[in-house]
Amino acid sequence: MKPAPVPDVPLAGRYGRFGGRYVPEILIGALHALERALDEHLHTSAFQAELEAERKSWVGRPTPLTRAARLGERYGCELWLKREDLAHTGAHKINNALGQALLAKRMGKRRVIAETGAGQHGVATAAACARLGLACRVYMGAVDVERQALNVQRMQLFGAEVVPVHALDATLRAAIDEALRDWSGDPEGTYYLLGSVVGPHPYPALVRELQAVIGREARAQMLEAAGALPDAALACVGGGSNAIGLFAGFRDDAAVELLGVEAGGRGTEAGAHGATLSFGRPGVLHGAYSYLLQDERGQVHETHSISAGLDYPGVGPEHAYLKESGRARYIAASDDEALAALRECCALEGILPALESAHALAGARRHAAEHPGARVLVCCSGRGDKDLGILAAAGGAR
Ligand SMILES: *Cc1c(COP(=O)(O)O)cnc(C)c1O
Repeated sequence: MKPAPVPDVPLAGRYGRFGGRYVPEILIGALHALERALDEHLHTSAFQAELEAERKSWVGRPTPLTRAARLGERYGCELWLKREDLAHTGAHKINNALGQALLAKRMGKRRVIAETGAGQHGVATAAACARLGLACRVYMGAVDVERQALNVQRMQLFGAEVVPVHALDATLRAAIDEALRDWSGDPEGTYYLLGSVVGPHPYPALVRELQAVIGREARAQMLEAAGALPDAALACVGGGSNAIGLFAGFRDDAAVELLGVEAGGRGTEAGAHGATLSFGRPGVLHGAYSYLLQDERGQVHETHSISAGLDYPGVGPEHAYLKESGRARYIAASDDEALAALRECCALEGILPALESAHALAGARRHAAEHPGARVLVCCSGRGDKDLGILAAAGGAR
């Protein structure tokens, strides 16, 4: 007799009232299998040893903590940067892609699929799959394939098949639909490698665990280099994975203020920003109950941000919980503030941050104005080489 399916525990994967698992019936089995695989592998010493060895020798961890003295002086605070821009492939996304690819291999999956907007998650996934000898297919909106030709080239060099999606608006949302369709067709053999702390349980918990290395390292590095914990820890929030990873290190330190910085875009009206927690309402998007940008009838809004990584109408459910519980606070930085912060960081520190990360710097500037002299830690989630075209269009190296 076949064993009865594991019952879906209603409270599994909840962050307060947020999170959960809102997916078509056909995917429930695959999500249960993933949950079982986490129980079976994630915390074994063999898995952790392999993950640790790859982090050290291939990703380049621990990433440094850098004192940004000149930028801090400009802001009026003691500023520290956690340098995820120095991780392999240029951003924190590799922490997650590597961990999940290792898991896919342990689960005996034949192939890995992913979806990507700007291509950063696709590049990280393709690199991890190349490293581990896994077949990889990346869905990408046809518009994004055009806009992000360099990242498409990198994915292809790593052996991934990049599939342009022409449906809907031919951007990230269309790519997600297509990836889910693919996964529904072969939930047994295919591993769906999700890129942020979003989606149905257990993804937000899994991605959080893999990104928590950021906060763990940063906490120890602050104690060693600064001799104290920061007064505030800031990170940009798209789906929310680099922020959750940083916050994880300081959640139990009640004196450390946690600040998430969303994409304020061009203004506060619908469609002009990507600031989900600042302007959104609770609802279901991409498999989880969280905040999202929607109109009165539940229609999901278009979003805008100068940084592709923050241009998303949803956010991870744990952030919705952190907001409502008051443990973390969320603010928005505009396109112009992010551009200015990027340029200042380049000119004063010799560091070119991603436009996403520049939102967190803009948040730090505002925090310092309210708390002069504060000790502030910012997650520099990625490097900005990918943004040079956008910078040129926005007025060059002013
Ligand atoms: C993708 C990306 C982000 C946004 O993703 P989160 O899940 O919110 O961290 C931020 N910074 C960089 C550099 C990115 O590539």
